[in-house]
Amino acid sequence: MLNRRNFLKSGLTAGVAPLTSGLSHLDGLAEEAAATGVLVELPQRLAPSSASVPWQQKIRRVGQTNFNEYDPAVMNVDQWADYWHSVKADIVYVSVTGILAFYPSKVQFHRHGKYLKGRDLFGECVLAAKKRDMRVVARMSPDLNWPDALEAHPEWAMRNHDGSVQHSSEDPRLFKTCMFTSYMDDYVPAIMREVNSLYDVDCFYANGWPPLGNLPVCYCAVCSRLPPPGTPAYWSVFTDRVLNLWKRYDAIAKEKKPDSFFFANSGGNVRGGPNLDQLAKVTSWFQADNQGRTYEEPAIWGCSLQGRVCNAVLDGKVAANVTAAYSTGQPGWRNVSKSPAETRMWLNQTVASGMVPYIHFVGDENSFVEDRRWQKVGEEYFPWTAKHDAHLAGRRSIANIGVVIGQSTQLLYPGPATERSRTYMRETTEGMYHALLEGRVAFDYVHEDRLEPEQLAKYRALLLPNVAMLSDKQCRQLSDYVQAGGSLMASFETSLYDENLKPRDEFGLAEVMGVSKGGAAVGTNGNAYSARLEKPHEILAGFSDTTWIAGAQNRVPVKPVEGAVATVVPGFVRYPPELAYPAQPHTDEPAVVLRESGRSRTVWIPGDIERTYWITGHSDLLRLLHNAIRWVSHDERVVTVDGDGLMEVFCWETSPGYAVHLLNYNTPNAFHGWVKDASPVGPQRVTMRLPNGVSVKSVELLRSEQKPVFAFRNQTVQFTVPGVEEYEVAAITVA
Ligand SMILES: [Zn+2]
Repeated sequence: MLNRRNFLKSGLTAGVAPLTSGLSHLDGLAEEAAATGVLVELPQRLAPSSASVPWQQKIRRVGQTNFNEYDPAVMNVDQWADYWHSVKADIVYVSVTGILAFYPSKVQFHRHGKYLKGRDLFGECVLAAKKRDMRVVARMSPDLNWPDALEAHPEWAMRNHDGSVQHSSEDPRLFKTCMFTSYMDDYVPAIMREVNSLYDVDCFYANGWPPLGNLPVCYCAVCSRLPPPGTPAYWSVFTDRVLNLWKRYDAIAKEKKPDSFFFANSGGNVRGGPNLDQLAKVTSWFQADNQGRTYEEPAIWGCSLQGRVCNAVLDGKVAANVTAAYSTGQPGWRNVSKSPAETRMWLNQTVASGMVPYIHFVGDENSFVEDRRWQKVGEEYFPWTAKHDAHLAGRRSIANIGVVIGQSTQLLYPGPATERSRTYMRETTEGMYHALLEGRVAFDYVHEDRLEPEQLAKYRALLLPNVAMLSDKQCRQLSDYVQAGGSLMASFETSLYDENLKPRDEFGLAEVMGVSKGGAAVGTNGNAYSARLEKPHEILAGFSDTTWIAGAQNRVPVKPVEGAVATVVPGFVRYPPELAYPAQPHTDEPAVVLRESGRSRTVWIPGDIERTYWITGHSDLLRLLHNAIRWVSHDERVVTVDGDGLMEVFCWETSPGYAVHLLNYNTPNAFHGWVKDASPVGPQRVTMRLPNGVSVKSVELLRSEQKPVFAFRNQTVQFTVPGVEEYEVAAITVA
C-alpha cells in the first residue's frame, strides 16, 4: 500500500496541507495518521440555516402497519396508534389503497374488501393518529385491479405481445394496470379527491408504481405506439409519463392543503426507475422501497447504497428507507419478524446514509397479536434516534471521492458482447462498493446528469466503473473537470456508448484519458488475461515477488502508449495444464494507462476490474483499485478511520458539528443474510482536520454512550472509538 512516506518522497504534496506541518509535537499522532493518507482540511462550515423548511423535512421517524383485507374485522385502532406514538413516530402510513378500499369508498371499481362491512377503518386511523399528533400519509396502490374493472375498461390492462392480459403472478384474479392508460388519468385522481373530501391527511403516496430498477414491458394499444420496451427512447417517454402524472397528482393533493403533496414508490438503488435527477426535481419525498436483502442483492450494505443514491440527487429533500421488520427475501414471510440484528442493521444504514428510519410490518392482527417480536426493535431504536436527532440529521456529506452512478448504463446497457448478462452492472456496482469499503474511502455517488462544475467541485477524483453510456456533453463535462484540476479513474467500456446506446468507434473520453480503442471487447476462454509489471510506479505498490498480476475477465484492448507501467498478457486455456501457458508472454498492449497534468491525474483500466473483483475476490484487483484511487486523488483524505474489520464509514457535517458513522460489517453474514448477533470490532481511530476557526467542544459516542478522550491541535481532531458492536456514531460538537 502506498503510504504518506512514499508521497513525501515523490514530492506529490504540492498544494496540500500536509498533516505534519506544525504537528510533530502531537505525540505520534501525525505520524500514525499519516499511514493512511494526506489529511486535508474540511471545507468551511455552512452558515446556520434560518430558512424555514417544509414540514416533511422535519420528519425523523416513520411507522407503517400495512393493512390486509382481514384487518377491518379485528383491528384495534388505539393499540395501533399507541404503539407508533410510544416509539415517537412523527408520521404513519394509513392504507386507502386502490385494490381494496379501507373506507366506504364510492369510487367505481374501488372494491370493498369482504371484511370491511361498512367500517371506516381509514377514517378511524386518521383520527387516532391526529389525536396523538402524528401526521398521516394516505397510502394508495394503483398497480392492480379486479375483473369487473377489466370488463368495463379492457384498455386499462397491461398486455402481452399476443394481446393477452398481464395478471398478478401470485393472484391471477388481479390484472396489472397500465400506467399509460386512462386508469392513471381517471381512477387515481378520483380516489385522491374522495379522500381529500372526507379526511384530514397530510400527503398521498402511491405504492407499486412506478416500477423500480426496471421498465414496464406492455403491448396495450397505447404502449404499442411507444418506442420498444427497454430502449433509451422508451426510458425517456417512461420518465416523462411518470413525472407528468406525479405533478398532476401533486396538484390534486394540494387542492385541499397547499403544503400537502404526492409521492410514489422509488428506490431500485443505482438503477432507479425514472431518471433520478429529473424525479428528484419534482418530488418532495423519496420513498426508498428497499426493504431488506434479497437473493439477487445479498450484500449487507444494500441500504447504505440506496442512501448514497438518494444523496446524489435530492439536495437535502427527505428520503425515507422502508425497513421491513418482517422476513424479506424469497421465500419471505410478510407476517413473521426477521432477526432483530438484521432489522437494526438496515435501520443503522438508513440513519448513517442520511435517510429517515422507517419500520414496516404487514397486517395489523399479524403484528399486534400474532408476532410482536419486531416491536422491541422499534421500541429501542426509534427513541434512541429521537434523543440524538440533532447529531443524526446530516447537513451535507463530507466526502472527496465521487463515484459516477451511470443510471442509464445500469438500466439499459446489456453488458459487453462477451457477457450479455442481466446482472452484469449489478456485479460491477457491488465490486466497486466493496472495494471502496475495504479502503474506507469517503465517497459519494454522482449522477451522470449532474456533472456541472459546481456539483463536482468538492471531489478530488471521480471514479467511472464501466459507465458505458455517456453523452457527448457528459464527456465534455468530465473533460472540463480534468482541465480544472480534477482526476478520473475509468474502466472497461466507459464512454464507449452514447446516451442512446449507440456504440462509438472511439471512447468518448479517449482524449482526456489518453487512450484509443484497439479492438472489440475480449472475453475469457479458460484463463483470464494477466498484467505484466513493466516498471515501478505507485499504482503498482505492494506487488512484490512477481512479474505479473491478475487482469480481469473482460477487456477492451487499447492501443500502445509510451511508457506503459503494465502490459497485457493475453489469456489462454485453463485446461489442459499442458497448454496453460502464455502463447504471447509479452505484448505492448497497456494493462493500465496513466496520465498526469498539473494537479490532475487519470487512470484507465481496460478490464472490467470492479466486476471481476466482485465475482472472484482477487486481492490483486483490490490492490490495484486501491492504488489507483489513492494515486488519482493524491491520497487526500477528509477523514481517516484506522482499525481492523470491514467497516462502512459516513461523515456528515451537522448543525452541532460533525458526525462520523461507523457501520460494522465484520460479521459472517456480510455477504449472505442475515445478521444474527453482533461481531464486535476493536479500536477505531478517527482523525479529521477541521476548518480554520472551528474548535472541538466535545466528542460523544451515541450508541455506546461514552465520551472518548480527544486530542485537538492545529485544527486536527483525533480520538479512538474503543470498539464497535453493530454501529457507532461519533458526534463531534464544535465551537
Ligand atoms: Zn400499456
